[in-house]
Amino acid sequence: MALINDNFLKLPGSYLFSDIARKISKYREENPDKQLIRLGIGDVTRPLPEACIEAMHKATDELSQKATFKGYGPEQGYDFLISAIIKNDFEPRGIHLSYSEIFINDGAKSDTGNIGDIFTVDNHIAVTDPIYPVYIDSNVMAGRTGSLNADGKWSNVVYMECNEENNFIPQLPDKKVDIIYLCYPNNPTGTTLTKEELKKWVDYALENDSLIFFDAAYEAFIREDNVPHSIYEIEGAKKCAIEFRSFSKTAGFTGVRCGYTVIPDDVTALSSNGERIQLNKLWLRRQCTKFNGTSYITQRAAEAIYSEEGKKQVKANIDYYLGNAQIMREGLIKAGLKVYGGINSPYLWLKTPEGTDSWTFFDKLLHEANVVGTPGVGFGPSGEGFLRLTAFGEREDCIEAMRRIELYI
Ligand code: PLP
Repeated sequence: MALINDNFLKLPGSYLFSDIARKISKYREENPDKQLIRLGIGDVTRPLPEACIEAMHKATDELSQKATFKGYGPEQGYDFLISAIIKNDFEPRGIHLSYSEIFINDGAKSDTGNIGDIFTVDNHIAVTDPIYPVYIDSNVMAGRTGSLNADGKWSNVVYMECNEENNFIPQLPDKKVDIIYLCYPNNPTGTTLTKEELKKWVDYALENDSLIFFDAAYEAFIREDNVPHSIYEIEGAKKCAIEFRSFSKTAGFTGVRCGYTVIPDDVTALSSNGERIQLNKLWLRRQCTKFNGTSYITQRAAEAIYSEEGKKQVKANIDYYLGNAQIMREGLIKAGLKVYGGINSPYLWLKTPEGTDSWTFFDKLLHEANVVGTPGVGFGPSGEGFLRLTAFGEREDCIEAMRRIELYI
């Protein structure tokens, strides 16, 4: 008889975005003439940069010829892409990585969700609250989180609250933890950490022999100088941090699927008999067993992001979204609302007016302004009283949404 992994049964039944979708379709059925503006889900809307399209066509042609056909590629990724990543994303910031320290994948969700495979269930994890839900749910599946309390928190997880009082800067945990998840620029709050603030975390990890899983999926949106693009800008991070990157929001790859994970050779953890094990080697073993590489066409498209033309086109797309974010920030402030993020990030974290809870405000926006956001509480207990808006929409829609919010809220 097959027995299931009971940990899956601990996961709360419904998924945030399905609840939202249900509310939207009900509203649409009842109000077919209303034009909804959807600023909820964090998916891009602009097409792929032309340089990526050209590279994909070229790669497709190569696969059509016997002489240039490619089958399985290296599990860790092709050298041409790894080389472009090292030269463009790291060397200009004084970070030196070797090819084997980079793992190309099919997007950051897979690796942020799967990295737990190489750690025991006994590790104590700490997460910021609110949080990108994958970090928690993947740990629930592994059996690392204990039980769900009435306050929406898991009993074995350390939550580091990010709220207005601490300016969305998490405080170091007051007890020792083994693994810390950080995501900057942050989803959902759109806020960032300065180099000095991130250094405190690296120092904590080095002092306590902890690991940091640093999700930099929104790195390309950073525009301010003192905001680190990579955790390896901080001294010592190569000994204690794994970094996750994604081309999804950088270059519109949400449907194409490509990202990468950096595991420096010096990052280690203990085996049960006290031996220090290189995580890079363990992850390579895991990947070679469970992952057969990202497609050649996709990796050629990702490489094209780093061409001169590609860089310009990517920047133009991101500038467009950041332009939306600025319009939205100004519009929300004009409407008398308090808003965070949206400067080095496509996310705006909006405080609901007069203590309204997240879902009530979501309903009000949907019904009165016909604008769809994401209730902050869906990202964790500290998200209660907030709503996330994304700047990934069309410019006209963002302008119209702000006009409606000013009118109705
Ligand atoms: N990490 C964060 C913080 C995200 O917000 C997302 C997607 O929304 C991901 C990772 C996953 O990105 P990908 O499309 O590369 O799987």
